[in-house]
Amino acid sequence: MSPIYPGSVDAAGQRATLGVLGGGQLGRMFVHAAQRLGYFTAVLDPDAQSPAGLVSHHHIRTGYDDPAGLAQLAQLCQAITTEFENVPAQALQTLAQTRPVAPGAAVVGIAQNRIEEKAHFAACAAVSGVSCGPYAVIETPAQLQAAQTDRTDLLPGILKTARLGYDGKGQIRVKTAAELATAWTELGGVACVLEKMLPLTAECSVLVARGWDGQVVSFAPQRNVHVDGILAVTHAYEGNLPPALADRAREAAVSIAQHLSYVGVLCVEFFVVDDGSEHGGLVVNEMAPRPHNSGHYTLDACDASQFDLQVHAMAGLPLPQPRQHSPAIMLNLLGEVWFDAGGQRRAPDWHAVLSLAGTHLHLYGKEHARAGRKMGHLTVTGPDVASVKTVARRAAGLLGLPGLEAI
Ligand code: ADP
Ligand code: MG
Repeated sequence: MSPIYPGSVDAAGQRATLGVLGGGQLGRMFVHAAQRLGYFTAVLDPDAQSPAGLVSHHHIRTGYDDPAGLAQLAQLCQAITTEFENVPAQALQTLAQTRPVAPGAAVVGIAQNRIEEKAHFAACAAVSGVSCGPYAVIETPAQLQAAQTDRTDLLPGILKTARLGYDGKGQIRVKTAAELATAWTELGGVACVLEKMLPLTAECSVLVARGWDGQVVSFAPQRNVHVDGILAVTHAYEGNLPPALADRAREAAVSIAQHLSYVGVLCVEFFVVDDGSEHGGLVVNEMAPRPHNSGHYTLDACDASQFDLQVHAMAGLPLPQPRQHSPAIMLNLLGEVWFDAGGQRRAPDWHAVLSLAGTHLHLYGKEHARAGRKMGHLTVTGPDVASVKTVARRAAGLLGLPGLEAI
């Protein structure tokens, strides 16, 4: 594909415009990155107040499967991406008939389905060197029964819907065969995977960007702390993980992206499990076909962010290897921050937080705070890991964030 240069104007007088399906915070930060380079942007999202729609040149307010909305997006844009993991694959296919779309419908389809995703991880395990944990597919009552009798090795485990889960939603932890049956009913009897509950010692993720020409760059793995299934803290600095383990995760993520002929930014999540070895074993968990919450620190701690790389990859620009210039800790700001212990609404003490050196506040423009809703994030950078940790602890204390002991 020939590059779409920022600031260019085509023969019809149209200015170089990049489009994104989905108007959430990932779309908003993508729009910011594209605009900074000089592109015009278009967002398709039904919500008039969507975080990305609020800051984009164009905002098409239709559903993701609306033919007129998709046609308008294709007409406005020279290339299109997605920020919404559950975007209908059909929408990407429709757009791809007339425009470069990255990532493509086929790979997004794989990442949207845990069964296909695990099959892909298994298919590249020989090259990536990393497998997924033990699991069973449960799509039918017969498979449920078989799992109850033949796969007791997977208990205690987690039953996860194959599709549409995020932030720990669509998952039920089960200890016994009876609980498994109840959980499957509770999840509506839809296609699921039963995963063995693994003894996690850590979690990490790797961001990879791959261009149309196959060029690949990646960030060093970040270590992630989840609270109640939602990302709470990301540690991004040298020494956050044993170096040999970090190297393996990075190589595995790159080979997973290559094996998919992926174009754009891909995030691969890994578990570190206690397998009796010195640093623990590495297990691949899942992948997100887009920039990821765990990569938000790259905005403030690296010379190119995950969103910059998404712009470069989809527009066919060169992909220089990003460099992290500061150690960083990212704190997720969920809706809880806007409520006190008694459930009363409060204004977070931004004055105190912003007086701390090296804090970078990103709010997503969402009006209504709700428990578990991602409202923003705070990245702390500094000259060394110790000072980053000190400031991050202070900020987390001021905001009443969970996971303080993990900083
Ligand atoms: P989501 O799509 O919600 O991110 P994940 O599969 O990543 O779903 O699960 C969310 C979190 O739940 C993980 O980050 C991890 O903390 C925990 N978890 C998920 N699967 C397992 C497992 N098999 N063993 C132990 N912990 C798990
Ligand atoms: Mg996850």
